[in-house]
Amino acid sequence: EKTRQARWAELPTVTRDGHRIELGANIGHPDECQAVLRVGGEGIGLFRSEFLFMNRDSMPDEEEQFQAYRQVAHDMNGKPVVIRTLDIGGDKELPLLNLQKELNPFLGYRAIRLCLDREEMFLTQLRAILRASHYGSVKLMYPMIATLEEWRAANRFLAEAKSTLTRAGIPFDPAIQVGLMIEVPAAALVSDLFAREADFLSIGTNDLIQYTLACDRMNEQISGLYQPFHPAVLRLIQLVIEAAHRHDRRVSMCGEMAADPLAIPLLVGMGLDGFSMNASSVLAARELINQLSFNEMKDLAEAALQLEGQEQVKALLLERTRN
Ligand code: PEP
Ligand code: MG
Repeated sequence: EKTRQARWAELPTVTRDGHRIELGANIGHPDECQAVLRVGGEGIGLFRSEFLFMNRDSMPDEEEQFQAYRQVAHDMNGKPVVIRTLDIGGDKELPLLNLQKELNPFLGYRAIRLCLDREEMFLTQLRAILRASHYGSVKLMYPMIATLEEWRAANRFLAEAKSTLTRAGIPFDPAIQVGLMIEVPAAALVSDLFAREADFLSIGTNDLIQYTLACDRMNEQISGLYQPFHPAVLRLIQLVIEAAHRHDRRVSMCGEMAADPLAIPLLVGMGLDGFSMNASSVLAARELINQLSFNEMKDLAEAALQLEGQEQVKALLLERTRN
């Protein structure tokens, strides 16, 4: 199996009928870049920056963060690296912040909400990411955005971080691309408004599914309701892709759904431009995409979107993608 798949590390990700897909990887630590390069990852679609803040009792300063981000930019050797700003809260606890216990942590004080409230912490991270952008192809992404105001507020902090660096004569990429995760249903529903202002969108299905179905992604007792193929989820994804394309923006997916062999043909057919997944899934995904016909997958997606439930969608996908 290993050797059969290994040749896919050197090949492009393209459908039989010539439709190019960007296939990147998710990482949670700079050390993972080598594994990504080994499987021919075309970039880092999601660098979760939380590792820098976990299991310690003091905040990482700008220099320490800069070193970590620069290492990834450097190791990826010009391939795009999307660095996500701190996404703490929900399932990811951060003892050093001494946060209040909440009744609904997934609906609470987390991710961008916390960053917009902790200005020095956020500005420090933004400066570190900007500085790293001088050493590779770095893009910036905000998690958990629900409103246009949050998006614009985050960008005001970014502008402030840029001017601080400019005044200090510290180099960064002034044209750094900035995007956001679409993982809150409210953001998906108004993704056209975000697409007008953002350089790219990235769909975070892990959270989007749990919020759409009101189903805790960690709760085993209700895992049957955590349905990636629920028509509500599929319609939201379709809405986001269409909104992005209407505004000439690229849209990718970095949730677990992006690595699901049953979902990939459907997502390709829906027009998703990029996939980002754990390095261990990249070869199989590339092999699968290279076997697909984009035109046939468009028809498949159209048919799947007519169906009334997850079971029907999965049955269609199983039947149509066998061999
Ligand atoms: C997601 O929500 O799909 C995602 C990629 O982010 P995380 O799993 O880190 O919440
Ligand atoms: Mg998420």
